[in-house]
Amino acid sequence: MAVWQNPAVSTVTGSPRLEHRWDLTPVFASDEAAVAELDVLAADADAFARTLPSPSQLGGPALAELLEALGELRNRAKRLSTYAELRSAEDASDPAAQDLGTRVAQRMPGIHDALRGFQLAWLDLTDERASQLAELPEVAGDRHYLIASRRFAAHTLSAAEERALSARGGAAEQSWIRLWSERSSALTITCDLGNGPAAQTSSEVMFACWDVRPEVRRTAHAALREMSDGFAPTSAHCLDAVVGDRLAVDALRGYDRATRSTDLANELRSEMVDAMLDAVAARAGIWRRWNTIKAGLLGFDRLPVADRVAPLGAMAAMTYPEVVEQVVASFAALSDEAGRTVAGLFQDGRVDAAPRTGKMGGAFCAELDGTCGPYLLLNHSGRQMDAQVMAHEAGHALHLARCLAAQSPLVGLPSFALIEIPSTFAELWLVEGLLEHETDPGRRLALQAGAVETAIGNVFETAVSARSERGCYRLKAEGLTLSVDRLNELWGEQFRAGLGDSVEGEEVISRWALMPHAIVYRFYLYNYSFSCLIALALMGRLRDDPERFAARYLDYLDRGGNGTPADVLAPLGIDLDDPGLWDEGLDEMERMVEGVGS
Ligand SMILES: [Zn+2]
Repeated sequence: MAVWQNPAVSTVTGSPRLEHRWDLTPVFASDEAAVAELDVLAADADAFARTLPSPSQLGGPALAELLEALGELRNRAKRLSTYAELRSAEDASDPAAQDLGTRVAQRMPGIHDALRGFQLAWLDLTDERASQLAELPEVAGDRHYLIASRRFAAHTLSAAEERALSARGGAAEQSWIRLWSERSSALTITCDLGNGPAAQTSSEVMFACWDVRPEVRRTAHAALREMSDGFAPTSAHCLDAVVGDRLAVDALRGYDRATRSTDLANELRSEMVDAMLDAVAARAGIWRRWNTIKAGLLGFDRLPVADRVAPLGAMAAMTYPEVVEQVVASFAALSDEAGRTVAGLFQDGRVDAAPRTGKMGGAFCAELDGTCGPYLLLNHSGRQMDAQVMAHEAGHALHLARCLAAQSPLVGLPSFALIEIPSTFAELWLVEGLLEHETDPGRRLALQAGAVETAIGNVFETAVSARSERGCYRLKAEGLTLSVDRLNELWGEQFRAGLGDSVEGEEVISRWALMPHAIVYRFYLYNYSFSCLIALALMGRLRDDPERFAARYLDYLDRGGNGTPADVLAPLGIDLDDPGLWDEGLDEMERMVEGVGS
């Protein structure tokens, strides 16, 4: 399925084969080599901590040298953690991968503690001395890291207090997260999802909600309700504990609102995040309109709740080489350079795409450092959807390959808030390119509806959860326990406000119980709405000026985390303080919704 008929593409991709596994030897020659490096790294990190001079006494060249050493140590730690994750992802049942994972998990906190010394010493400086040092020309490459680190100064406790807090982390927050993860991953329910009655995991049930067969979707929807209702008491208890703990630590650190530490970490103004969530809530009519259009396409007056994420149209079957060709062609259509980088992932053995027993499900892109590029895990299923998933992960890979090579290790990685922009943009760009050439009405509908559904999920559904999560912190701060009833009420209220009367039947309002985000992270979900709305706005910019867009976009990817999100996005014409920005993304989404079926 050659979409752009670009002859350069087939020559750059060679012949990727599904059975090709990734080659991890550029990361470590063997597990033994990784274990040996773990010992050397721990010793080097200790030596770094023991001989750490006070930054105040350093001149430019010595401070630059210290930052370089810190960056190098962080890169080595990242390389070890990622290698262990990749080994476990390719086969979680491999005892060697399990041993390696345990060893790395045991040693890494000590290594990170040793490396944290610089940051604490840097925060101890007066503002005046810190800005004098940050302005030295020798540290220009790390200036953003030095300046941005200071944003936590007012909320950092004494070294002894920080050590005490960090030492209790394992027993406080982490044990609740572990309890939640262990219990939720062990959940099963016996039902028939099209292949006879069998025990199904929660992710199998959720996946079946997207099934093409209506009866499977109805069974899955009922099973999801039973599973989340059953798990809600455990999940509520874990949520109550972690939210209580986080608020207690916030009080010690002097944060004035629950979202502040996350917004500071993401380098976003809290008021900007509030404005975005308000803008999304105000335009929930787009979500309702989509449900009405979808109901009509499925032959209903009102969309049955079990069909809310039903697929539409006829999704094309695709072989793995066809998927690779389509994705590489899409990046090449943006820029030759981007096409070559993405093709290189397949040529260099950085992709594992064949589903296997023991291999992790889903898809991810794992980053290493500037000298060793990213790796992609995929699970090819033979459908058009694989190309969207691959484009998403390749969007991450292009970003990470460029920024980690272009920037110092201390500023290379983009802020969490920015991380999903290139991946979402790559998906939108792929679908737009495919629609230009697709004439089959069923396939057009599948592509259009798939893109709309992804955008609705990213923007509206995650905003519902993000607002509900804020509600959890508000209730807990008022001294209330996060009980199942209160949590159901919070989520239910947000869902009802979003969906209005566009859906027939009751939404599974206890679905919060199966979502890891609020337990494992804190206010992570708004990143999806944020990234998706910016990616949608970028699609508009691209159409306005395709010639200049590609060069600017690659420059943006190169910046990585060297600057605040506002700084990094400004050259693309994105102004985070412009309240109209969110409506620009939402207008683009409305255009997509109205265009379905055309
Ligand atoms: Zn992603």
